[in-house]
Amino acid sequence: MSKVLIIGAGGVARVTAFKMASQKRTFSEIMIASRTKSKCDAIAKDIAKKYKRNDIKTKKIDAENVPALIRLIKSFKPDVLVHLALPYQDLTIMEACLATKTPYLDTANYEPKDEAKFEYSWQWAYHDRFKEAGIMAVLGCGFDPGVTGVFTKHAAKHHFDEMHYLDIVDCNGGDHGKAFATNFNPEINIREITQKGRYYKKGKWIETEPFAIKKKLTYPNIGKRDSYLLYHEELESLVKHFPSIKQARFWMTFGKEYLTHLRVIENIGMARIDTIKYKGIDIVPLQFLKEVLPNPGDLGENYSGETSIGCRIKGVKNGKAKTYYIWNNCSHQAAYDETGAQGVSYTTGVPAMIGAKMILQKKWKGKGVFNVEEFNPDPFLKELNKHGLQWHEKVNAKLEL
Ligand code: NDP
Repeated sequence: MSKVLIIGAGGVARVTAFKMASQKRTFSEIMIASRTKSKCDAIAKDIAKKYKRNDIKTKKIDAENVPALIRLIKSFKPDVLVHLALPYQDLTIMEACLATKTPYLDTANYEPKDEAKFEYSWQWAYHDRFKEAGIMAVLGCGFDPGVTGVFTKHAAKHHFDEMHYLDIVDCNGGDHGKAFATNFNPEINIREITQKGRYYKKGKWIETEPFAIKKKLTYPNIGKRDSYLLYHEELESLVKHFPSIKQARFWMTFGKEYLTHLRVIENIGMARIDTIKYKGIDIVPLQFLKEVLPNPGDLGENYSGETSIGCRIKGVKNGKAKTYYIWNNCSHQAAYDETGAQGVSYTTGVPAMIGAKMILQKKWKGKGVFNVEEFNPDPFLKELNKHGLQWHEKVNAKLEL
């Protein structure tokens, strides 16, 4: 018997709520609270239809208002809070969790609104306070970050004595039929991918111009795709927790059409995150753009193809060089048929559910702030196979990297 509070009601929250609702014994009481209550109600209504559960509670909340969050948590008394709103709210929600001694889990590291900066420092700084409060915070428990960290830990535990080269490869081989759309919150997504690229080599971070480094990589069941080197937040925690890694990089696929649109958006100033005046009103161009782009949550219906995300690792086992590739492919259509959301929301929402389950079942334990690779990967990966994200592995295959 346990209670879970989900904050946010976007595509990811929908998937997590669906997956939790299907496991009444573990998630016996669920509340979805977000800025727009009607979006929480819509998820609850669809769950009622699918799982005959009419007990999903919904509430309106501004997750940037700590006293309001504390009141909400005190009234519902969740055993775990799963934060699936936006990275801007990480710290206010962590404060409310501390004040109420509630375990916390999220899928994206904190970002200040006025600067697109991706690092764990702000959240890692909460470690001692969470430790003193006797509760745990699990950071970045989506797919990437999230499953990629668990995959890396699995590789370290079962396949290598030392890992030396880590490449995280993220391909969306899907087609939603739109000229331009992002697969998760457009504002967060565009902030992330228009940043300079960055990778780790021999103890140093090397910066590159955005999209400056490209390779054609082959993805299972998808084929060859142009893959671009990006900075991604899990690189920071993985090189910290696996110090034998000499080089760590992150690659993501983009089509030509997508990159052309992105270049235009940047060139005409619509990716700006500073405030400008429009007819006397303060607006942030990127936030305005979000309002006119397709809602990622609505892309599912005609989305074909698959995502393929994994880790390609080189290292040493028993004195011999070894390569290892571990990945998952997820079908957009299958994700939509099950939850009404597309594959990117699905690959994020399922691991968030599993992370919450690990906390509730005390398979992941600790006091303080943790990244997923600090825990035992085995029970998590067992659940991943059971809940629609089967993983596969290849030993000593050619990694192309
Ligand atoms: P959406 O934009 O679809 O949903 C975000 C939700 O948060 C919306 O319901 C929104 O409310 C709500 N929200 C925003 N601000 C507040 C606030 N101040 N108070 C309360 N609720 C608020 O995003 P997604 O579902 O696509 O993504 C959710 C999270 O998952 C993001 O943080 C994203 O970065 C992360 N993510 C992580 C991935 C991973 O693999 N680790 C991959 C993809 C996403 P409203 O409806 O009113 O706008």
